[in-house]
Amino acid sequence: MYDAPDIPDDDAATAASPIERPAVSARALASTLGATLGPNGLDKMLIDRQGTVVITNTGATVLDALEIDDPIGRIVRDAVRAHAHRTGDGTTTTALLLGELLSEAETLVERGLHPNTIVEGYGIALESARTALRELAVPVETSDRGTLRRIASTAITGKWDSAATARFATLTVDALCSVDFDATRATLHAYPGATLADSEQVDGIFIDTEASSTAIDALETGGIRTEPTLAFVEAEIGLPETDGSETVVVRDADELRTVCEYERGRKDDLRDAVLELGIDVLVCRQSIDDDVRTALENAGVLAIERTRRDEFAAIARATDGESVASVRDLDRGDLGTAEAVRRRSIGDVDAVVFAGLPAEEHVSLVLRGGTRHVAEETRRIVEDCIAAIQHAAHDGGVVPGGGAGMTAVARDVAARATRERRRTALAVDAFADATTVIPRALARNAGLDPIDAMADLRARHREGGSAVGIDRSGERRDMFEVGVLEPVTVPMRCLETAVETASLLLGVDERLAATPNLDPDSDAVGHGGRERAGHEHDGDSGHSGGYPWALSH
Ligand code: ADP
Ligand code: MG
Repeated sequence: MYDAPDIPDDDAATAASPIERPAVSARALASTLGATLGPNGLDKMLIDRQGTVVITNTGATVLDALEIDDPIGRIVRDAVRAHAHRTGDGTTTTALLLGELLSEAETLVERGLHPNTIVEGYGIALESARTALRELAVPVETSDRGTLRRIASTAITGKWDSAATARFATLTVDALCSVDFDATRATLHAYPGATLADSEQVDGIFIDTEASSTAIDALETGGIRTEPTLAFVEAEIGLPETDGSETVVVRDADELRTVCEYERGRKDDLRDAVLELGIDVLVCRQSIDDDVRTALENAGVLAIERTRRDEFAAIARATDGESVASVRDLDRGDLGTAEAVRRRSIGDVDAVVFAGLPAEEHVSLVLRGGTRHVAEETRRIVEDCIAAIQHAAHDGGVVPGGGAGMTAVARDVAARATRERRRTALAVDAFADATTVIPRALARNAGLDPIDAMADLRARHREGGSAVGIDRSGERRDMFEVGVLEPVTVPMRCLETAVETASLLLGVDERLAATPNLDPDSDAVGHGGRERAGHEHDGDSGHSGGYPWALSH
């Protein structure tokens, strides 16, 4: 263990720093989230003002739901949220690390260390932690589906039972493999009304035609059109709208007939233009005139209107088609092809699938859940799986999870502290202790004594087992063997966010109530010289002590 040097008294004046407040706030948040960490994490029941109840063990969901009055609590929450948004995993880990770094800092300040010294020490420790993680990381081959499935399973551990976890890990890995790990070619659709097990992969581009009034009856015979020719039109299809200033005066029935015939003729022209080119599927960004659409459907053309911009672009690109402004601009060279366009019904939603795409393959995951909430939660979890696989495959490989990575970090950072000759050594060492909060929380949640478990882990690591962590049942095992693998990016970013936010809060020496600015349009607070981007700086809410937030009832 690192032996702390004596600290002379000249720093003692800084002990008045208000670090205590952030430490209290972050510690309270950490203790709220700590019990949700890992495979044995317990759920939280969230109850909103309307009495709606959500049960979750996702750190990000808990954070989003917490009503936090305290400005420091809000800074902590926003930082962790930003991390979750950027990384897709490690929310609870970040909150725990931050709480622990601030706690350690509080002790150091009490012992007379200047906050700036702590910030500097944490910076040194972070560099050393980064190096430790990079050394521990093992690259991942995208062809190694088994490993990818383990990474995906680790990322979503605790969200479902193990059968569902395995199923979604496989679903996600297979989907990504079929599009060369290009997540932009994988789309997710979530629908309530069926069980998780009904979720499936659909090859091709799946669009639900709800936004379109299209009755996709043109596909009625067998619900499929093979080798269709597709056209893509940007503008509305129909007669040009009058600008409101023109008036057509119709004096008698003959004239009315003439007008109607003229309109019908124009609409027939539109239909004929489409039919002449042998178009089977007409995809329009905007709306299609009812008469034109009916005429097209009667002629067997599937007309899809009000297509989402991204889907419109994706279908055109994947089918080798070119979008044009209007039907008049259509040319044979602009048409796309596919192996098939197929009708699908998901519950009461009508959808169309474009499959066998010549230019680039796409895949869609149709995710199901009993209720809209479950279906949406499923989408978020699959998004996290995708993020984890992408990180592991593209950003430096994987490290062992289950607290093994952080134990290795703690060991290396503590060693770094012994080489530090200045008082920053204290902060570097404190950082090493702080990182053990992760294996300790995993141990506690597995029903172990965290101190004993930590002592055992340290010993195993000293003996060279740097991948030894705590498995689901609480045993200390090699996490590469157990298959608990995390993209190295996740713990790396957890540490970065925690250090960045701790440093931000350590730099604050006084909290002042800001007078509301007399100009209501200008921002009354948040222009201080030390402000760092992305955080809200509020005036003092006058809150005093205790839990600075509460779940509302
Ligand atoms: P976070 O919000 O930080 O991602 P989680 O509740 O998802 O929190 O827990 C993540 C932690 O659980 C990581 O440290 C990870 O290594 C660990 N973990 C995940 N799956 C397992 C498992 N099967 N056995 C042991 N530890 C696991
Ligand atoms: Mg997680």
